[in-house]
Amino acid sequence: APRAIYGEHRSNSSGINFAQRPALDALKTAMDAFAQRQWQAHPLGQGAIAEQDAERVLSPSDRRREVGQVRWTSTDCIEAVIGTAMRAQLTWDEQGVEARAAIVERLADLLEEHRAELMALCVREAGKTLRDGIAEVREAADFCRYYAAEARRQMAEPEVLTGPTGERNELHLHGRGVMLCVSPWNFPLAIFTGQIVAALVTGNSVIAKPAEQTPLIAHRAVELMHQAGVPDDVLYCLPGGRELGARLTRDVRLSGVAFTGSTDTARKINQSLAERTGPLAMLIAETGGQNAMIVDSSALPEQVVRDVISSAFLSAGQRCSALRILCVQDVIADRLLTMLAGAMRELTIGEPGLLASDVGPVIDGKQKRMLEQHAERMEREARLIARARLPQDLPEGHWFAPVAFEIDRIDQLDGEVFGPILHVVRFRGRDLDRLIDDINATGFGLTLGIHSRIDRVQDYIMQRVRVGNAYVNRNMTGAVVGVQPFGGEAMSGTGPKAGGPHYLARMCVERTRTINT
Ligand code: GLU
Repeated sequence: APRAIYGEHRSNSSGINFAQRPALDALKTAMDAFAQRQWQAHPLGQGAIAEQDAERVLSPSDRRREVGQVRWTSTDCIEAVIGTAMRAQLTWDEQGVEARAAIVERLADLLEEHRAELMALCVREAGKTLRDGIAEVREAADFCRYYAAEARRQMAEPEVLTGPTGERNELHLHGRGVMLCVSPWNFPLAIFTGQIVAALVTGNSVIAKPAEQTPLIAHRAVELMHQAGVPDDVLYCLPGGRELGARLTRDVRLSGVAFTGSTDTARKINQSLAERTGPLAMLIAETGGQNAMIVDSSALPEQVVRDVISSAFLSAGQRCSALRILCVQDVIADRLLTMLAGAMRELTIGEPGLLASDVGPVIDGKQKRMLEQHAERMEREARLIARARLPQDLPEGHWFAPVAFEIDRIDQLDGEVFGPILHVVRFRGRDLDRLIDDINATGFGLTLGIHSRIDRVQDYIMQRVRVGNAYVNRNMTGAVVGVQPFGGEAMSGTGPKAGGPHYLARMCVERTRTINT
């Protein structure tokens, strides 16, 4: 039987039961206090310098609403910043895991204490719904507590290895040096925090470059990290774009990069690291997916519809784990698709801060145009199943109504389309092997959903589809830290899995000591 290695001495952050009115009202009141707040972002950390001009950050759900202002990082300071972070890393690493773990745990508490503000930011800057905002804060706190506990377990004592008598052999883990953390806008708090605390707790200094779309959340999170006790020469937050990223990854003094984002960008980072002449750098890349769900004739249709709606359309489909290709056995397809179309018409698209909203906006105009173009192509080449209703009275924002199309073959699709567009293919029971080949042939390997009540079918599929996270008879998003270690293979990422027991080791160097006693 698989060994249970999670959950000891640690519990995950708790949520809010929306059915309990007082808890919900308290949250709303706390969030209302930030309704008019304007946040500021600028480079943080010792010696970091901002450019002169500030840029307005507008809300994706209402382009007339300014959320705050950002001053981007001046590349002039990078030379000095990396030098400072390198020197500071030695002391940070020497401090030992206990001191670092305690700081990271303090951060978890601070994140929860500031939940209302962080949620207000998630709603306004990233267009997250309330439910997704809560999940962000919880996951960020979970990463802190999980990695702190894991770091203690793995680093507090060296591993003693048996060898010849008269010799003591020890394996020690240390931070690698200066780690660059490049994070995406779709989890502007959770993934941002997860990468950073993993690197910090293992004894690295960190330069974090948050997504350009969400600098304000990142800034606030790093302020809390400094408040928790991370020195300001050990942790930097440098808002910036591609040019800044390119400048950083070219620098031979970086020991490694933790990146979450597109497969294309991961390749570019990899290339840039490979072209450097100095030490060989480590890269952790968590990238995209072309995720399928296989539904056979034994599945429960109501449950399938609920899980498809949640996996494909909630969070506006802006999760790398989200369902993109629903594969339905032909004998149940008509009935299932009719039910799905009905459920899609019930979705409420609206202002993300309202409890009634199921789906908020997409992140920006570029994403929206990309989705519109893909939907136009699908309208020509595929059959429309349903489109959710877009209310007429929404403010001017990046709204895109969830839509589903039936296609003939998976290879009609070019790659990941990041947003609430679902593709459906029908398959015959005897063609299951071909379907599995087609799913593997996408080249991605992130998530997979299976709806089948036949154990043999579940096992057969799981043995053959090469993915990092498979979900059976449930939705396929929302991996929980320490419970469902998350990450893919092939074009979906390098591993190790975020929120899993092997992540921290990749952030470390191993040093063997052999002592003749
Ligand atoms: N961990 C998230 C989930 O399980 C997805 C992360 C991502 O979109 O990058 O849904």
